[in-house]
Amino acid sequence: MADHIQDKHHLRTAAVHGGEPRKAIEGSISMPLFPSSTYVLGNPAEFDDIRYVRLNNTPNQQAVSEKLALLEGTEAAVVTPSGTAAVSMALLAHLEKGEHVLAQDHLYGGSRKLLDSLRERYGVEVTYVPAEEPEAWARALRPTTRVFYLETLTNPLLEVAPLDEAVAFARRHGLVSMIDNTFATPVNFRPVELGFDVVVHSASKYLNGHSDVVAGVVAASAERVKRVRKLMNLLGVCLDPHACFLLQRGLKTLPLRVPVQNENALALALAFKRHPGVREVRYPGLPEDPSHARARRWFKGYGATVCFAPVGGVERAERMLKRLRIPREAPSLGGLETLVCRPATTTHAGIPDDVRRGLGVADELIRVSLGVEDVEDIIQDFSRALGD
Ligand SMILES: *Cc1c(COP(=O)(O)O)cnc(C)c1O
Repeated sequence: MADHIQDKHHLRTAAVHGGEPRKAIEGSISMPLFPSSTYVLGNPAEFDDIRYVRLNNTPNQQAVSEKLALLEGTEAAVVTPSGTAAVSMALLAHLEKGEHVLAQDHLYGGSRKLLDSLRERYGVEVTYVPAEEPEAWARALRPTTRVFYLETLTNPLLEVAPLDEAVAFARRHGLVSMIDNTFATPVNFRPVELGFDVVVHSASKYLNGHSDVVAGVVAASAERVKRVRKLMNLLGVCLDPHACFLLQRGLKTLPLRVPVQNENALALALAFKRHPGVREVRYPGLPEDPSHARARRWFKGYGATVCFAPVGGVERAERMLKRLRIPREAPSLGGLETLVCRPATTTHAGIPDDVRRGLGVADELIRVSLGVEDVEDIIQDFSRALGD
């Protein structure tokens, strides 16, 4: 019997068995937690093989990384202490001083801030390009361009870029194509199947799924992951074994949770469409949504985030938020519980008002991250809270 499940399996099988030791440790069915920081020396081939938590090669780090690689369909993966660390390590491991990144203009706020600070601090240049204008990508190209960085579904409007063209463009120009797949999860979309080189995630969201871990992952070829891991080892970036253990446990139910969340999101989006108190709904699962055709072609599900703008502006939006009984008002997403937030005052608070509105993020826009509750309860709660 193999030591680990390594072959390609269906997602639920991979989620349950991926990375779990087949030679049961003391008969244990689930991967035990090994909090030890250091390990008996053995015969390490090189420095990075000495087993030590900061070198990202201890049992819980390896087990969860293996599971994640199986889920994303990549050769390898490495876990990081946050999604932000996954983004920064993936970028820095593929860039030298003076090199250039092409990035989609609607990015997660933290990633945009990070890219801006790379320019100021490390001389890494960045150009933001509109996802819908491949001619603009070509115009922004420089001899030093190395990376094309995108997100599967943008936050909060849930737009899907022409991802196939982005991959083709990156290949044509020798760029590393990188994508943040947090909002989709490998249950809905596996970017390597479309040809992406590097996939990053905030595992704090759907992957862990229980709003009790902050972590990230970089998934790619073994060679690229090795490069990322070496940089992490150098800079002292590692995920604690306890967090690895929790993430590993959370991942086992990912393929059970996400389809329910997808369904809940679609049901809520349809209910909003019919509600007279709602001016606009954005959800790629709605046939009239601008991203529907692409999402339908590439995704197995449309994700669990819905955005809507109530009639009556900010006042109505705020009143509704206060009246909700089930969803809690909090940033972040991807847990079992439905969360709501107003991006203008949370995720996009750092962006000047006019720029934010220019990105299509109206003051009264509300983002809903659907959990796994009975959706009738959620729909009824929103409907009551929207009432005058
Ligand atoms: C939350 C998030 C991040 C950052 O992840 P952390 O785990 O909070 O550091 C990056 N990208 C996207 C799309 C996110 O939603």
